[in-house]
Amino acid sequence: MTPKLSTQLSAGFALIVLIAVSAISLTANLWISRQFETYIAEQQKSVSDGIAFGLGLQYDGTTGQWNTDYIHGYGMYALNEGYIVKVYDNDGSVVWDAENHDMTLCHQIMENISLRMERERPELAGDFVTYRYDLAQNGAKIGAAEISYYSPYSLSENDFQFLAALNRILVVVGGLSILGAVAAGILLAKRIAAPITKTMDITKDISDGNYGIRLQPETRTKELSELTQAVNQMASALERQEALRRRLTTDVAHELRTPLANVASHMELMQEGIWEPTPERLRRCGEEIQRIVRLVSDLDRLQQVEDEGLKLDMAPVDLWDLAWSVSHEFEGEVRARRLSCTVEGSHAVVIGDRNRLGQVVRNLLSNAIKYSPEGKAVRIVIEENETEAKLTVEDEGIGIPENELPLIFERFYRTDRSRSRKTGGAGIGLTIAKTIVQAHGGTITAQSGETAGSRFLVTLPKNH
Ligand code: ADP
Repeated sequence: MTPKLSTQLSAGFALIVLIAVSAISLTANLWISRQFETYIAEQQKSVSDGIAFGLGLQYDGTTGQWNTDYIHGYGMYALNEGYIVKVYDNDGSVVWDAENHDMTLCHQIMENISLRMERERPELAGDFVTYRYDLAQNGAKIGAAEISYYSPYSLSENDFQFLAALNRILVVVGGLSILGAVAAGILLAKRIAAPITKTMDITKDISDGNYGIRLQPETRTKELSELTQAVNQMASALERQEALRRRLTTDVAHELRTPLANVASHMELMQEGIWEPTPERLRRCGEEIQRIVRLVSDLDRLQQVEDEGLKLDMAPVDLWDLAWSVSHEFEGEVRARRLSCTVEGSHAVVIGDRNRLGQVVRNLLSNAIKYSPEGKAVRIVIEENETEAKLTVEDEGIGIPENELPLIFERFYRTDRSRSRKTGGAGIGLTIAKTIVQAHGGTITAQSGETAGSRFLVTLPKNH
């Protein structure tokens, strides 16, 4: 089973804290212990020096006597602290010796220290070392002292307790930090997971066909609000697609109904012998069938260009050459209707799909010819500037009423003027043209005079 976000985050946080706390504890521990041990070693040396100095003061130079009571007090105090003192006078005889004085206590103390240190710091391999001091008064030697203590250093029970307490603090702080990290992980995961779960639920709803649902962005996390936006965009896109699909179905049904009904009723009348199948009636039936065939092939082309991710075969295209060769396709029709068709302007080159752009020119030119009365002129003009190329198709035909201009690029839209004409198509040509132009990053607009003449302007970026 895939682990939950909260588990992963908490575990991740806990691991990071664990590593951080362990690293800090380890270095702190090593550093503090080392500092502490150096300090203790120095301290021991200075205590030992102090004892030696103190002992030197217990000699009375005038009487030549040692103050043995003091030395005894001193020695016993030092012994309890772990310093074994021995004092000699100038001729080498012992003035005071801790070991002689209380051998049992002396050995007991030494053993205690050795055992403790061997137990706690076996790697130290320490032992009692004797340091010898010459005692002097006013520059004259008065004797010597031997002070033994555990070297390189010894730690008392209290010292060890201090170090242990330090470790405990680090462990407690570490433990608390890990708990905190786990809690923070859970909280954070909740904050992240809640909107994700909500988005997931809504996405399921959307996939069930409820395209109208939109998510309210309730998160302060950038990526999550982007996710919400993306889901909303997806829902809008699906909604649009769905509406388009529905409209297409009704439009197609509507477009097919009339010619099919016409053909059906004509055939019926002729079959029943009510109508003579005259060539004229058969021709009309044929025309209706042609209309249906045209509609279906238009639909086919529309489906191709509207298909998701219209694949463009990009290459440099000379718009003038393209317009010229497309205009040749209409030569017969132009001549038959005594129209004039010219291609003017410059050889602007754009990066585009030659076939698709040819389709755009073909649709515009075919409209211009279709909606022009006999003897009129159709002009194709190519212009360019630094970044864009413009292709204009102008005619002197029936024109487009201003209020219908924004609608003519819609599928199946035909102006009232053209509906009455036999020449009209299904109202798909401009939709196809617009889809192709937009896929090239360009725009297509239409202008028309009050009564006559239309002008279609295609603007294409030179480098898409
Ligand atoms: P159609 O196949 O009907 O020509 P289009 O999508 O190419 O479909 O055009 C949609 C409608 O726009 C046409 O039916 C017509 O009413 C109008 N139209 C397009 N081009 C012209 C033009 N050059 N002059 C007048 N009307 C035009």
